[in-house]
Amino acid sequence: MAVAIDQNKCVGCGECVQQCPLDALKIEDAKAAVDEGTCAECGACIDACPEKAIAL
Ligand code: SF4
Ligand code: SF4
Repeated sequence: MAVAIDQNKCVGCGECVQQCPLDALKIEDAKAAVDEGTCAECGACIDACPEKAIAL
């Protein structure tokens, strides 16, 4: 399991990458991408996203 990133809403700002304690997020082709094997669904990135592009 992992968070879902809405590619239509993501603007690639990188705020979520900064907030992830497990380093499960990165920016790929100007959009956030999650490593599903690393994400623990802690929710920190959801609160950090100004575009509300991340959901569980
Ligand atoms: S839910 Fe937590 S572990 Fe998963 S990508 Fe977001 S900040 Fe990282
Ligand atoms: S914080 Fe939101 S808009 Fe910014 S890169 Fe992450 S998912 Fe995309």
